Amino acid sequence: MTSPTAAAVADDSRTIARRLAARSRPALRQTWINFKAWAPFFRNRAERERLAAYPFQDYRAGLVWRIVAPRQCWHCGKSNGLKPLAATRSVRAFEHALAIAAAAAAGWAVALSIGWFVPAWGARLGLFVTAAGVGVLLLKSWKEAVELTVWTCSDHVGRPPAIELASDDGKLWVQLPTHAMAELAANEIAAVRKLGRRGGPSRETSSREISSRAGDAQNADAAAGNPYVAPSRSPPADLPPIKLAGDEDE
Ligand SMILES: [Zn+2]
Repeated sequence: MTSPTAAAVADDSRTIARRLAARSRPALRQTWINFKAWAPFFRNRAERERLAAYPFQDYRAGLVWRIVAPRQCWHCGKSNGLKPLAATRSVRAFEHALAIAAAAAAGWAVALSIGWFVPAWGARLGLFVTAAGVGVLLLKSWKEAVELTVWTCSDHVGRPPAIELASDDGKLWVQLPTHAMAELAANEIAAVRKLGRRGGPSRETSSREISSRAGDAQNADAAAGNPYVAPSRSPPADLPPIKLAGDEDE
């Protein structure tokens, strides 16, 4: 028979376990998303077809990415009467992740072979390698913010899309809701990159242009409660046209 105190302790530990599981679920999910960015082999075809890779040169200023999805409703593809849905998200970027994983795998191989002869030593080494691998991964990682804007028609305002993001190797991998959107995004990215290579707008200018296209929709504070918020403010007055370095005055 269990005493009331023991029952309470069991209840507490169950609650703690539940909370831990709930807390670690998003982290595990994000780890899997990042893992697919490091090892694209694990993406299935449907995922690959909805993927857009935004290069840091054009879409990141400091540690902030500004991504505006192609102008069509994320759900039905309609391109008129659109409203922006803006959210600020946070992603963890890693450096040399694959090399660290390879080193850990080598460590595990050694631990396994030692464990074959002396199980206790092998288990200890395995634990040590795992802890060291996770530690080095975290040490070689940092957080980046993503100001993400997608568009919606009036029919689909209340249903914000879940968009997977992973920052890796100077690129932000964005899993867009549809294949058509990913194709449009790829064209946009190529066009912006071409401008950048021609010595066009600097990173800051092009991000400013992008954020003005988003209609000043980003509002981190308002987004804290609801991942996607439609802006209540009107877009800023027109900015002067951005001049390219090579452009002549008319
Ligand atoms: Zn729609």
